[in-house]
Amino acid sequence: MEFTKQRHTRNVVSMLTKAYPRRGTALEFENPWQLLIATILSAQCTDVMVNKTTPKLFEAYPDPCALGHADITAVEELVRPTGFYHNKAKSIVAASRVLCEESGGVVTPSMEMLTKLPGVGRKTANVVLAHAFGQQTVVVDTHVKRLSYRIGLTQSQDPEQVEQDIMAAVPKAHWNALCDALIAHGRTICTARRPQCSACPISSLCPKNGVPESAHPQ
Ligand code: SF4
Repeated sequence: MEFTKQRHTRNVVSMLTKAYPRRGTALEFENPWQLLIATILSAQCTDVMVNKTTPKLFEAYPDPCALGHADITAVEELVRPTGFYHNKAKSIVAASRVLCEESGGVVTPSMEMLTKLPGVGRKTANVVLAHAFGQQTVVVDTHVKRLSYRIGLTQSQDPEQVEQDIMAAVPKAHWNALCDALIAHGRTICTARRPQCSACPISSLCPKNGVPESAHPQ
């Protein structure tokens, strides 16, 4: 039984990462702090819109100390296109202020330090650790959460449990590539409402293949 599950996981990782060769994040950034800010802004927003928004933000506030002491209303106006701009402006100003005052504006590559920053959870921290520092992490965004459950990599829909289950089942060297592939697959083929199972490169491995779309878990 355990052997079958391990083989299923290994096949999923192999086929998905071949179908979606690793491209990394689409968010544009020049340093870890910029990626941290861009990732906070990307909640419920497309990467394209974030990439249109951040150049003006970073031009006005080029480092954590500048943004950390900015006028909140002015920051809200700049990040308004990304949605939820009251909360996002509050988070990026507060996180930047803590970075400025407690570490001289330097982002430390540590889950513990990152998740102490206001508005920064494990998902955001894992994005920064993976894409700004090259660490292997499991980023559980909405696509990774949904697809991991559908494909049978986890029995849970709780993001922290999904992260733990993937970390336990998949060799560390594949974590970033698998998450990038799951995100690409979730955006293009295995979408939330209308998964295109007939065009799916891993349909032969998926327990949901052949199940009516209306019965797919979201
Ligand atoms: S077969 Fe359908 S539900 Fe399964 S991974 Fe492919 S697109 Fe998603």
